[in-house]
Amino acid sequence: MTNPAPTAPITQDVLTIPRKAAAEAKRNLVGLTRPDLRAALIDAGTPEKQAKMRETQVWQWIYAKGVRDFSQMTNLAKPYRALLAENFEIRVPEVVVRKVSEDGTRKYLVRIAGGHEVEVVYIPEDDRGTLCVSSQVGCTLTCSFCHTGTQKLVRNLTASEIIGQVMIARDDLGEWPEPGRNPKDETRLLSNIVLMGMGEPLYNFENVRDAMKIAMDPEGISLSRRRITLSTSGVVPEIARTAEEIGCQLAVSFHATTDAVRDTLVPINKRWNIQELLDALREYPKVSNSERITFEYVMLKDVNDSDEDARRLIELIKGIPAKINLIPFNEWPGAPYQRSSNNRIRRFADIIYKAGYASPIRTPRGEDIMAACGQLKSATERARKSRAQIAAETGL
Ligand code: SAH
Ligand code: SF4
Repeated sequence: MTNPAPTAPITQDVLTIPRKAAAEAKRNLVGLTRPDLRAALIDAGTPEKQAKMRETQVWQWIYAKGVRDFSQMTNLAKPYRALLAENFEIRVPEVVVRKVSEDGTRKYLVRIAGGHEVEVVYIPEDDRGTLCVSSQVGCTLTCSFCHTGTQKLVRNLTASEIIGQVMIARDDLGEWPEPGRNPKDETRLLSNIVLMGMGEPLYNFENVRDAMKIAMDPEGISLSRRRITLSTSGVVPEIARTAEEIGCQLAVSFHATTDAVRDTLVPINKRWNIQELLDALREYPKVSNSERITFEYVMLKDVNDSDEDARRLIELIKGIPAKINLIPFNEWPGAPYQRSSNNRIRRFADIIYKAGYASPIRTPRGEDIMAACGQLKSATERARKSRAQIAAETGL
């Protein structure tokens, strides 16, 4: 990335973007798949013969140029622009708070319909800029080390709200490509997407899929599927479908090497255990034609961080093209765990590395603004769900 990371101290801008009262009446084009966009244009009176061309033009204005106002769509005749404006809007969620960390990480608190809030995090690095996108308000799962898991689930995000997070970040970064600039340029500020924000993406499959298809579309945002990583806690039945219908990179929140420990850390393990998860993961690279699975492993002091755990992990993943991403535990108020010591993490990484696997230790980013992994949780919902309530909702 050529642009230097912003180094401003923590700042907090409260943005007030008034919501149009009449907005509800118009259909939002953001988040529609290409076939749905075409159908919507036909419904509004676009002659069928022109529909394909109009779909491409409107698509490019929205996703390649970042235009939100039909009057700026200068390759469309004025009466057609007026017709579009009468029927549609191009609306992304509202940014309520924007914070910039000392390390350049940016966190946006985004308000979506119904007054709910989700968090989006942008992480600049030397060779890439990664946007961590949320897929749900809260999460129905209750991983015991995760702050999001203590939040009451309110709802799934729509495809529009998911792709809208990417558009908001590009707005803030000022990154809508200038004409003629190669959109595949690796010097882009926003070059990667990780579905590692709030929520379990595979419990909101269709919306996540549609949004990622929009992000990958070569006539729009045009990110390679190799630059999109979906992280799941292990929703086994949806893993094959992810390979077939999205084809992005896969990360899995593994975190333990025995079912007994994984049951307590990642309770979805009671539904689909380590063996079932590994079977599904073994198939993933073949079907999706992706290179490696990322195994995320949170380092919790005296819980999952022994030499024996490291060796068991190597045995378990044998035969799967893998990289192990060690995540030092990020603390949050009231968290029942502690981060493993740096020496312990290095020793664990070393054992895995010597067995032939990449074992990077993820540097926590944006801790001063509570933007690090597992710290995301909006201010609106603080109530902890009862275990019974979660069990009833998820069938776990
Ligand atoms: N629900 C998905 C994606 C979001 S979580 C999933 O669980 O995979 C993104 C990553 O952050 C996961 O690997 C998750 O286990 C990890 N994580 C959650 N809380 C954390 C914490 N407090 N410290 C470090 N990593 C955490
Ligand atoms: Fe949900 Fe992922 Fe947090 Fe588990 S780690 S509670 S699946 S967001």
